[in-house]
Amino acid sequence: MKFQVLASGSKGNAYVLSGKGYYILIECGIPLNTLLKKIARLPDAVLVTHEHKDHSKAVKGLASMGVPIYCSYGTAFEAGIYGHHNWEHVQHGISCTIPDTPIYVVGFNVQHDATEPLGFLVTDTEAYKDLLFVTDSANLVVKASPQIAAIECNWDIETVLESVDSGITHRAALKRLSQTHMGLEVLLRELPEHLWLDALEELYIIHTSSRNANKERIKQGLRGILASQIKLEVF
Ligand SMILES: [Zn+2]
Ligand SMILES: [Zn+2]
Repeated sequence: MKFQVLASGSKGNAYVLSGKGYYILIECGIPLNTLLKKIARLPDAVLVTHEHKDHSKAVKGLASMGVPIYCSYGTAFEAGIYGHHNWEHVQHGISCTIPDTPIYVVGFNVQHDATEPLGFLVTDTEAYKDLLFVTDSANLVVKASPQIAAIECNWDIETVLESVDSGITHRAALKRLSQTHMGLEVLLRELPEHLWLDALEELYIIHTSSRNANKERIKQGLRGILASQIKLEVF
């Protein structure tokens, strides 16, 4: 099971999960033409967490190309693909399979300002590997023991306060951030509580803000709680 970042952050998100017998996209929040140039082949499926454009921009284009789109009812409705024959309904707590692949997916509700945002636990039933994918959520929400985790860390309080002081970020933004996006302090507290870190092999930090997060600070904070053999990358 290989996780790859094609684009990450509020300007656009697209990730690839691939392995023996599958090539899956998670998010498609960049223009369709750009996305098609970056991917190795048309994916078996696209998982979309929520309707915000930085996660769903290419969703209609991919659906019309015959790619199955896995997302919640609320996301499908807001993204304009509800009722499309290539829409596959993902519901909180219910697993669904991706046909002709060894993959099954469980969606779970997350905490974000979207209609019905989800996180995903994706299992490769042949390789016995799990990916936990959580982005655009104020909290980690689920407990899991994945080998690979891709988790948002959108901001850290020191960088936000520096940005407020220098007028880059409005003070009022802090409230929205803390209610809708994962901050470093929450991540550091929740990661050991929610994940069985003995199982974890790779951690990808995604959706960091260019204004409100310092990647070095995030890396240092996480290194303080993770075993040294865990691969850590901050995007
Ligand atoms: Zn986003
Ligand atoms: Zn969002």
